[in-house]
Amino acid sequence: MMLNRHDGHLFVEDVALETLAERFGTPLYVYSRAALEAAYQRYTRAFAATPHLICYAVKANSSLAILNLFARLGAGFDIVSGGELVRVLAAGGDPGKVVFSGVGKTADEMRAALDAGIRCFNVESASELQRLNRVAGEVGKIAPVSFRVNPDVDPKTHPYISTGLKQNKFGIPIAEAPALYQLAASLPHLKITGIDCHIGSQLTDLSPLADAADRVLALVDTLARDGIALHHIDLGGGVGIRYCDETPPDLEAYGRILAERFAGRHEQLLLEPGRSLVGNAGLLLTRVEYLKPGEDKHFAIVDAAMNDLMRPALYEAYHDIVAVSLRAAPMQRYDIVGPICETGDFIGFARDMAIAEGDLLAVLSAGAYGMSMASNYNSRPRAAEILIDKNEIHLVRDRETQNAMMAGERLFC
Ligand SMILES: *Cc1c(COP(=O)(O)O)cnc(C)c1O
Repeated sequence: MMLNRHDGHLFVEDVALETLAERFGTPLYVYSRAALEAAYQRYTRAFAATPHLICYAVKANSSLAILNLFARLGAGFDIVSGGELVRVLAAGGDPGKVVFSGVGKTADEMRAALDAGIRCFNVESASELQRLNRVAGEVGKIAPVSFRVNPDVDPKTHPYISTGLKQNKFGIPIAEAPALYQLAASLPHLKITGIDCHIGSQLTDLSPLADAADRVLALVDTLARDGIALHHIDLGGGVGIRYCDETPPDLEAYGRILAERFAGRHEQLLLEPGRSLVGNAGLLLTRVEYLKPGEDKHFAIVDAAMNDLMRPALYEAYHDIVAVSLRAAPMQRYDIVGPICETGDFIGFARDMAIAEGDLLAVLSAGAYGMSMASNYNSRPRAAEILIDKNEIHLVRDRETQNAMMAGERLFC
């Protein structure tokens, strides 16, 4: 992220985080426009040799300003719900560049996506295929179909974010794909456009991605021999980022791996990156409410919690946490925890920090699966969001109000 320190104070681009906390309060999500754009440009450069479309995976961060920024850069979008489609359209995204993933698409979601004219449905089962054919027939449309196949490769990541193994709920087994493509070809309200896979998230090794590409390409060639030609090959997202000491995969190397395999092919390459576009372009700003010394350990109780950033509680994920202003306090080891009534409500364990009550902390790498997973647990309003563009401060989401949180609820009589 475009983070820098001047005279001991932390800045995002040209704006001091202290200024933001004073003006907008905490907890506060802060994004850097330069970092978002740099992440996108890294993709377009790495895959320049292959005709491609980057479909940003909306679930990583579905805030309208972020979607709008990617839409302006020419991105497509990978959505997993009708709600995400509404957001993409509201943000000015091109429906012709939208791919619709997910194992549980409802008939209503299918109708909305057909109405918008999306690029394709990534179909994940035979039942979904039949439903899509029926819904398209009812509305007098032809639905573009791409199957999500499960290449059964081990992405070597956290089990909760691994999706491409046989035992996962996602996709159709690659061995069943030829029969399903034939079925799709026989149904009147469908047209086959492509193929898709997505094997997992936070991948730090390129070899599973290369293996998945090889298996998918072999299948595409089998399909071609059977008379089924595809327009695009979507290899999903999943490229990891650095949270702590991981070595994220080299995008240029991934670009070369795919350029080799796509040379001489006519299909367009699609990718569905989420985390690697936004993860390190955002941080969560939080204030220390209390320092609570203990016999065995010390706690720093901050005003951000698992409802703001769920990844530590959900996956025991690690986020770097840094003091916004350096001070001459004694260095102590703290568990950084939120105010929520759950032992699982932590942001980071055993961090050595020189801090005092009232200090600001920046929880780094929080741009992906942060705000998009935020909830109202413990009746906590969701944080505000700021987008920094050099020295400009854009409030892109107001802090949720107590009234907005209760809207739609009523007493019964
Ligand atoms: C979550 C998801 C992605 C994005 O994954 P990242 O690890 O954030 O890049 C892409 N495609 C599908 C189908 C997904 O579910």
